[in-house]
Amino acid sequence: MGDQISPQPPANRTHFHIAIICALPREADAVTLLFDHFWDDERDLYGRADGDMNTYITGRIGDHNVVLAILPSMGTNDAAAATASLRSSYNNLKLAVLVGICGGLPRIANLDAFLGDVVVSKAIIQYDYGRQYPGHFAVRNRVEDSLGRASKDIRSLLAVFQTEVMRTRLRRDASKHLKHLQEKAKIERRRADYRYPGTAQDTLYPPAYAHKHRTSCDWCTASDFCDLASKMSCADVGCGLADRLIREHSVEEANFSPEIFIGRVGSGNTIIKSGQDRDRIANAHNIIAFETEGAGAWDEVPCIVVKGICDYADNHKNEVWEDFAAATAAAVMKAILGRYIVHDRDSGFSQN
Ligand SMILES: [Zn+2]
Ligand SMILES: [Zn+2]
Repeated sequence: MGDQISPQPPANRTHFHIAIICALPREADAVTLLFDHFWDDERDLYGRADGDMNTYITGRIGDHNVVLAILPSMGTNDAAAATASLRSSYNNLKLAVLVGICGGLPRIANLDAFLGDVVVSKAIIQYDYGRQYPGHFAVRNRVEDSLGRASKDIRSLLAVFQTEVMRTRLRRDASKHLKHLQEKAKIERRRADYRYPGTAQDTLYPPAYAHKHRTSCDWCTASDFCDLASKMSCADVGCGLADRLIREHSVEEANFSPEIFIGRVGSGNTIIKSGQDRDRIANAHNIIAFETEGAGAWDEVPCIVVKGICDYADNHKNEVWEDFAAATAAAVMKAILGRYIVHDRDSGFSQN
């Protein structure tokens, strides 16, 4: 906020140059808490192109007019189709940011990564696009090859974020935005709980430690995968607290500042649910996180993935961290947009 002049809604869709794409309603819910204005509070002002079935939320975040699109479902194919529609309606986009939650590596570039930290994509690789040979999966680097086509804008933005000084500023700004989001959620009486769930809820097991019934289950005795166990919490199946990996993590819960990791994000239609698969695929392709839409969206519009780590891409998943991770991702997204420079000709203010 704090605008000296109240911004006016842009004249038409061509004045929007930033899109935010979310795969899940809970991701979009967190993002909307960081809008400074909505242009569609009363009614939709902008319509959509023929054949576009997406629904949009339009408004302003900081100095930017933004259009928020929520994908109809998860997965790279639907992401591609919906992003194609987005581009047909909003044909002057300069930057798309895919905001939400992801599975992260517990250790990234020699640093421990924790739940609630945020990953920003330097490149997107579709790890399940290729051929599965016995014991070997050959990935075609189609997506990453096309990164060369990313606008100079995006490449220079990402280069700057890799400096220590800029990452410090991003973290500081993100922390401020997160706090604002949490306060606003309370005022608006949102149902989602955006408070930090606590370090005790951040459990990491060794990669080979299976999430399975520890007692009296025929499936679990015979194999490492049990459908019933996969739907239950670690406490309920009996994953032992003593078997956790202990890591040092000091958190100031009231002023949480997510660590920001920049690197290659793996995107695919297969959700990774095993610590061993996670590590194998991550090592093979130098991936720091896994998500399911980036590759599809990237096909249509150059984008940055900004996702909060809500699990470690293993089978010990639970939903405790989803809202908080969606909130930290939204906060980092707003911090990034705050550093994104608008060219004069792109100005979204309706001048006449
Ligand atoms: Zn079982
Ligand atoms: Zn477990």
